[in-house]
Amino acid sequence: MTPQSAAAELRGVTMSYGAAQVVRGVNLSVRPGEFYSLLGPSGSGKTTCLRLIAGFETPDSGSVHLYGTDATRQAAYDRPVNTVFQDYALFPHMTVGQNVAYPLTVRGRPKVEQERRAGELLELVHLPGFAGRRVSQLSGGQRQRVALARALAHAPKLLLLDEPLGALDLKLREAMQSELRTLHGQLGLTCIYVTHDQGEALSLSDRVAVFRDGQVVQEGTPHDLYEHPRTAFVADFVGGANVLPRGLMGSAATGSAAQYALRPERLLLASTDAPGPHLTGRVQGSGYLGAFTRLEVVLDGRQTVTAHLPPLTSPPRPGDPVTLTYDPGDLRPLEPEAGG
Ligand code: ADP
Ligand code: MG
Repeated sequence: MTPQSAAAELRGVTMSYGAAQVVRGVNLSVRPGEFYSLLGPSGSGKTTCLRLIAGFETPDSGSVHLYGTDATRQAAYDRPVNTVFQDYALFPHMTVGQNVAYPLTVRGRPKVEQERRAGELLELVHLPGFAGRRVSQLSGGQRQRVALARALAHAPKLLLLDEPLGALDLKLREAMQSELRTLHGQLGLTCIYVTHDQGEALSLSDRVAVFRDGQVVQEGTPHDLYEHPRTAFVADFVGGANVLPRGLMGSAATGSAAQYALRPERLLLASTDAPGPHLTGRVQGSGYLGAFTRLEVVLDGRQTVTAHLPPLTSPPRPGDPVTLTYDPGDLRPLEPEAGG
């Protein structure tokens, strides 16, 4: 294996706004060509980390590295990075073509090159022939694509995207996700993507860093995070999970963890005399979601668990007693949350 510099790296980075430390010792390393997401709840420090990589913020301590160069003190415009923000930030007084070509305009590229490149990029984002339109004549999804085309105009090595699809409705968001993923592959881009939407992070990313309170609490592939969440926070935030205390599982729990995660789709309805571990309780509520039926069950120990069952023609009703079972191999031991 040849040693290759990371595309972007944060090493022990901290940053405060006033008295509040909002980035608290973040280490992360994005490989060239990777689609890497920063995932976490609102306020967990994702945007601040992206701004540190872009050069819009400077760390209080630690360092930022881009392609093997210490970029901690480098100005934003000198970094090999382009950013797409959620609010698009298109120039309303310019045409679509002028917006897309803007990065070339400020670099003094010839007019013919600007127009040719704008045309190519608009084709790439499936907006051929839109160059002459006004920004005000575009839908939200179209504006987002124009913003993306503009970010690609100067052929960035590293594309930073901050919740770029947040304002779009579900259908369009899914279409744009798959376009982004395709562009990433076609152009060999490295993408760092900020989102609070775990489904989006799982479906788009090669790797994901999960943020909580200014720290990365776990990093891994979508499969790692879903199958092996380290803490209750990650288990719940990424995919949703039942967090069960050891006492509830008896001999089904192996190892010494105090808590275990069990995914809702790994719970099954069982008869009371079926073999295997049992959780017994009463139905509190159920919901039909097409692909599955969601059952909320209050266990005898008063804990509530959620089960996602294959669609049932006559699901148990609120108040009905039920027995749930699972494969002990699906229990995931959890570490205690790192405090403060
Ligand atoms: P995220 O993108 O994960 O939602 P941010 O990085 O935007 O989180 O914010 C992290 C924390 O920093 C939040 O508590 C937020 O209120 C605070 N913060 C962000 N920007 C500023 C700012 N310009 N001035 C003061 N506080 C800020
Ligand atoms: Mg943010």
